[in-house]
Amino acid sequence: MPDTPSQHTSYFEVRDAFGRGSCPLCNLAVTAADRYLKRLVADSVTDPDTRLDFAAAHGLCNPHAWQLVDGGSASSIAILYRSLLNDALRALEAGEAARNEGSGLGWLWRGLTAQTAAPAAARELSPSRTCPACRARDERAAMMAGVLLDHLADADLSDAYRTSDGLCLPHLRLVLGRTPNADARTRLVALQRDVWRRLDGELAELIRKFDYRFAHEPVGTEADAWLRAVAALAAARDYGVPL
Ligand SMILES: [Zn+2]
Ligand SMILES: [Zn+2]
Repeated sequence: MPDTPSQHTSYFEVRDAFGRGSCPLCNLAVTAADRYLKRLVADSVTDPDTRLDFAAAHGLCNPHAWQLVDGGSASSIAILYRSLLNDALRALEAGEAARNEGSGLGWLWRGLTAQTAAPAAARELSPSRTCPACRARDERAAMMAGVLLDHLADADLSDAYRTSDGLCLPHLRLVLGRTPNADARTRLVALQRDVWRRLDGELAELIRKFDYRFAHEPVGTEADAWLRAVAALAAARDYGVPL
């Protein structure tokens, strides 16, 4: 069982996340990205560190940027993205000025060597950091993968695992890559195998009932097995850029 209060909290977060009907690491990691986005619109406009980090990443990746839009807060988004737009405009103009100030022969040479000139032109418009919401998500997934491994032998947690949808394939890879020993690996594989075998059975039953000869039979818990199979292989729908 967990020892310190923070371990205690994390343990229960992981255990309880197994009961939410999707991969617990997807669930906890997406929550971390959501929290980042909420903080971003709430106080980033006045927080210099967050602004610098946001600027270095050129804002958010495509899925997180549109998730931000879906959450509203048009005024904060206008301020944040105006700042990014001005950064991009300055970089574009500075790059052009630097080229124009170069010697005629130097510029001619760079123009002739298009293979090196093209990447250089793009470089000044490239971010130096990755999407901060992706980072918040991935850091949370990595942290909770460690908590899961630390408590895999706990009876409550393994029961919660066994009766859940288990880990998605990308997060199973993440956790398997961190197993400290053969015992932990064996335990993890046994739990996940039970979960996937159960899902396979539900899919078989659903596919059988798609057949017109059996289509009159009532559909039970297997009704959404096809969606759970997609989540099991590709991670949760709102996960964003995959691992
Ligand atoms: Zn997952
Ligand atoms: Zn992102």
